[in-house]
Amino acid sequence: MNFFTRLILTTSYVTRCEGVSLTLRRKHSLGNQQIRVSKQKRVALGNPEINSLTLSQKRDILALDTDNNTLKFPTIWLRDNCQCPACFQRHSQSRTIDWGKFDFGVKPLSAKLVESELTIEWSDNHRSNFTLDWLIERSFTEEKRKLFRNKIYRFERTTWGANEFGKYLKKFDYKSVLNEDSTLLNWLESLTKYGVAIVTNVPAKNNSNKILTERVAFTRRTHYGEEFTVIAKDGTTNVAYLSSTLPLHTDLPYYHYAPGANLLHCLVQSQGKGGESQLADGFHVGNYLKLHEPESYKILTKTLVDWSDVGHENGDHFHSLHQAPVLCEDEFGDLVRVNFSQPQRDSHFNAPLEQVILWYEAVGLFTKLLYSPENNVTFKLAEGDILTFDNLRLVHGRSAYADTTGRERLLIGCYLDWDEIYSRIRVLRKQLKRSKEMNIEQSTRNLHQLCLSF
Ligand SMILES: [Zn+2]
Repeated sequence: MNFFTRLILTTSYVTRCEGVSLTLRRKHSLGNQQIRVSKQKRVALGNPEINSLTLSQKRDILALDTDNNTLKFPTIWLRDNCQCPACFQRHSQSRTIDWGKFDFGVKPLSAKLVESELTIEWSDNHRSNFTLDWLIERSFTEEKRKLFRNKIYRFERTTWGANEFGKYLKKFDYKSVLNEDSTLLNWLESLTKYGVAIVTNVPAKNNSNKILTERVAFTRRTHYGEEFTVIAKDGTTNVAYLSSTLPLHTDLPYYHYAPGANLLHCLVQSQGKGGESQLADGFHVGNYLKLHEPESYKILTKTLVDWSDVGHENGDHFHSLHQAPVLCEDEFGDLVRVNFSQPQRDSHFNAPLEQVILWYEAVGLFTKLLYSPENNVTFKLAEGDILTFDNLRLVHGRSAYADTTGRERLLIGCYLDWDEIYSRIRVLRKQLKRSKEMNIEQSTRNLHQLCLSF
């Protein structure tokens, strides 16, 4: 027997006078429970036409049949997501159902679809209404879930090698980012997509970088403080403060919650040779390994490495530790984080003996690729630039330099977390879309008034 059974006993047709919809009501009795399924023939207004509505025999799945496919919804999910004021608080956009009192065996008694609205009567004496738009947006199809993941949860990335870098590196004027929401959004989208962007014409003030992070959300504090100054220091506890070559690395891999994006404000640049920034896209190289050297990729994604930082800053001592692979994947197998830092890798290595040698071979290959001319780009920041980049994706470094008398290379760095960047992007996209729609509405109204005045 078909998993989905159409239940028909009595039938009545309702034809609406405006000719927009035809409703077909079907009724069925099952023991002492009654299921009513209404089928509505409707004119599709941007949505697929729903041909029928069915409940599975166990009443755990409700299906809406369209011309192209069937949209299925678990009925427990529908009850859990009831949109009535008793179950969902609109102003906080939050579910208020008390799970302590919730009937997890709840089943629909009847379901009907009329005028793009689905109404369900439940076994717990509750009624829910859902609009078709709301349901379609939350459809469980692979396509819809992927769309949500790539457009709203996370955003699609474009990885790059050295040849593409010039094409993808975008520059944004500091004042415009601070004053215009659209420029702020463009900068953040560029940073998300390509993992790198430069903000230019930044005032030579110590707090310019912090002001920029606060335009997005707030500065991410670490044990080096809210801001860090990169200047050649004698007797430093961090190798970034030496003027010798700074090898490719990610910042602070020893944090379980490593800072998401790095913002480096160049206040004073060295005038001679050196002091150049180096970047490589760790995801690009990681994906290359996945395709061409799958064994190395596997080792780099499965071997836990001990990342550590021991030292002190402003009199406060710290001892940070985090175990994580060099390449971290999410549950979909996509890369989400690169951990890479020679100075911050502990000599404790919590891996099985036989895996250690294989790991060195794999990381050797990864390192070689990061430094290869196909993947590695070098450029010199100008004074007044803020180099912004994804610290969980790109590796960065700097060539050695020598300060000239009275002119010390000076960078001030800050971090932002991806949670805050993503949040700002989602909010800005909504706001800008709304204001664009309002502008169209306003200009339509103006046009209408103009017509009336003739
Ligand atoms: Zn409800």
